Amino acid sequence: MTQASGIEKASLEVHILGGGQGESIVIRMPDGRWGVVDCFTTSPDSGDYNSTALFLRAHEVPQLHFVCLTHPHQDHFMGMAELLEEFRPREFWRFGSLSHEHINNLIHYYEAKAIVKGQSEFSRTADELLALFGKSLEGVQSNTMNVEYATGRASLYPPAIEGPKQYHIESLSPTGNQAELYQAAIIGCVTPEGKLGKKLTRTHHNNISVVLKLTYGKTVVFLGGDLEKKGWEELLGRYADHMLKATAVKVSHHGSPNGYCDQLWERFCWKDKPVAVVTPSNHHQLPKESAVTHIKQHASAVYSTCTPWNVSDAPAPEPESSQQSLKSLGALLGKMSAVLAPSRPTAGCCSLIFDDEGGCTVYLTRPAQKL
Ligand SMILES: [Zn+2]
Repeated sequence: MTQASGIEKASLEVHILGGGQGESIVIRMPDGRWGVVDCFTTSPDSGDYNSTALFLRAHEVPQLHFVCLTHPHQDHFMGMAELLEEFRPREFWRFGSLSHEHINNLIHYYEAKAIVKGQSEFSRTADELLALFGKSLEGVQSNTMNVEYATGRASLYPPAIEGPKQYHIESLSPTGNQAELYQAAIIGCVTPEGKLGKKLTRTHHNNISVVLKLTYGKTVVFLGGDLEKKGWEELLGRYADHMLKATAVKVSHHGSPNGYCDQLWERFCWKDKPVAVVTPSNHHQLPKESAVTHIKQHASAVYSTCTPWNVSDAPAPEPESSQQSLKSLGALLGKMSAVLAPSRPTAGCCSLIFDDEGGCTVYLTRPAQKL
């Protein structure tokens, strides 16, 4: 098996990318297969700003095994259709809560919103959703892609159910309850005439967010998507304490105080404190200080993929990141800094490399930093 990232020993790699307006997580499984969870681009009109595609090209990844869409917010799917086109994933895992009819309603909602608000970002959102779900259907029809619905209690990886494996990925959310509520909201959000109906809130979308649990021996990583308080409360009620013990956590909802509920972080640090990574959202002024303070009490360290909205200057990089940066991450940084104009929020990367004993090494690609 080629070790594309230059690491000799088998490991689980989780590379969390964020540039102040979205997030994307590139995963390399211990068997050498690659996957991506969510995608963002700072300029949807140009693939040059698609940090995920840049990362995958820098690592010379020929094909993805899976792409996962946690929920239908543009800061999690913009540029994803391009990934489906270029990296031809064998599987598309998508939040298992909406039928095609619901998705059409949602597309019409964004189109109506674009007209009412006069903002082109809504029509771009509608276009990307249309392209994304069009491509996944094409993949199914041509027998080149499997679509899997990510829901609570679903096993997603390895692709064939082979009994206990040393590594696997499962989804813990959305719960059936949140899916029901979301479907009801989607039906009412646009009128039969194509006009805006009942308001959809961010919380509606976020509470059907997929949460993934990656297990590799004794190592457990949670990718929280944008799940909010109510969704986490339901999740806690469905899993025993020890099942949420974490080695690392991608913090939910960009470090919002709504991105967790009572007892969640206590459960994550059941015995040892996990590493936490935040993907800031400048537009929504996230992360919030109160959330970071709360998480710091329960985490061994909190990292950010980029300079947070309330920090004016990037601090000096951590010594470990400058001295031990992976060869391929160096290539990524060079490519990214070459294409990202100074006026745009610059994307950074927190790379977490895990062994199967719960060990984690963190590499930061600037402007990623420790909070
Ligand atoms: Zn988000």
